Amino acid sequence: MDEQCRQRPELVQSAKETVAGCTECGTCVRRCAFLTRYGMPRDIARRVLAGERTVDPFECSLCNLCAAVCPEELAPGDLFLALRRLAADQGLVDFKPYAPLLGYEKRGHSSLFAWYPPSPVKTVFFPGCTLPGTRPRITWKLFEALRKCEPEAAMVLDCCHKPSHDLGRQPFFVEQFENIRNRLLALGVERVVVACPNCHKVFRKYGEGLTVTTVYEVLAQYQTRMKREAVSASPRTTVQVTVHDPCPLRNQAGVHQAVRSLLEARGFAIREMRDSGERTLCCGEGGAVGFKNPALAVTWIEKRRAQAQGDLIVTYCAGCAGFLNRVAPTCHVGDVLFQPERALAGKNMATKPPFTYLNRLLLKHQLKRLS
Ligand code: SF4
Ligand code: SF4
Repeated sequence: MDEQCRQRPELVQSAKETVAGCTECGTCVRRCAFLTRYGMPRDIARRVLAGERTVDPFECSLCNLCAAVCPEELAPGDLFLALRRLAADQGLVDFKPYAPLLGYEKRGHSSLFAWYPPSPVKTVFFPGCTLPGTRPRITWKLFEALRKCEPEAAMVLDCCHKPSHDLGRQPFFVEQFENIRNRLLALGVERVVVACPNCHKVFRKYGEGLTVTTVYEVLAQYQTRMKREAVSASPRTTVQVTVHDPCPLRNQAGVHQAVRSLLEARGFAIREMRDSGERTLCCGEGGAVGFKNPALAVTWIEKRRAQAQGDLIVTYCAGCAGFLNRVAPTCHVGDVLFQPERALAGKNMATKPPFTYLNRLLLKHQLKRLS
């Protein structure tokens, strides 16, 4: 085993478990664009333990589909994340291709774009970066709907630093996210209501002392309680759509169901794709693979386009919506709840950069006025 591997015990553990447990059944390989290229997890793990670097972990989407389908309950994706961290620790990663993504993260956390309420609050809406940038009106509508259920809720604008997490910059990520967590705890926050699946994953794993839920779950529960269509005044529709579940939420059945019940309450008929829920596919954006190997990212998008069979795709990640919309009509669930006519007419609802930054500044201004 290579000496440097020893410095990352989770890497050694993951590789040993994969060598010991993988039966080379090929179930994950057949479904994964990355493993189709690099081969069986057992073989990869064996070579990792031997100190051979024959796989580029930055081409793994970190989507964890492999873990969802593995009959041996292995999680090869964890091995690739650990390999990313080792490479970053060793200074072997060229981060230049990721400069736009890291700049986006840095700006999101800067005092110019970040916003925290001035007085203590127990529940905050944390919409992330992409939704407020691409869809500020939808973000506001979701906030207003949330405040119907929880009138005291405030909004926080910040970046959860998932890009750095996924790029293996673990010490930096931990430091930055700790700043966010401490700031929220100092404000008396107990509950974080997110809109972005990536924020959900980060708060779930690292947000000790805070409970996390999605705005979709809160709204669906409110809708059930009130026995009415609580979140939208728009006319009902009978259009058939399909739902793309974002991979960071693949194990969150309650969120899958909440989004579907919000859509069904508006009259949408949902046709499920072959791979949905726990077995959903990556949209292509996962793990920032598109910055390293755009062709591999496109392989994932194309799989999704084929499974959608021409139906309008509705998702609940603004990043997935942007990525999938390159090849198939895709909306954010907020689009179809609050502006269904435009969404169903196939109008692109998302603002493009650099105007996304202007949207975020205007949203912050609106919050300042509210406080
Ligand atoms: S995490 Fe996703 S991309 Fe990576 S190996 Fe598993 S299925 Fe493939
Ligand atoms: S599904 Fe599990 S056992 Fe089968 S090849 Fe993949 S990691 Fe190995």
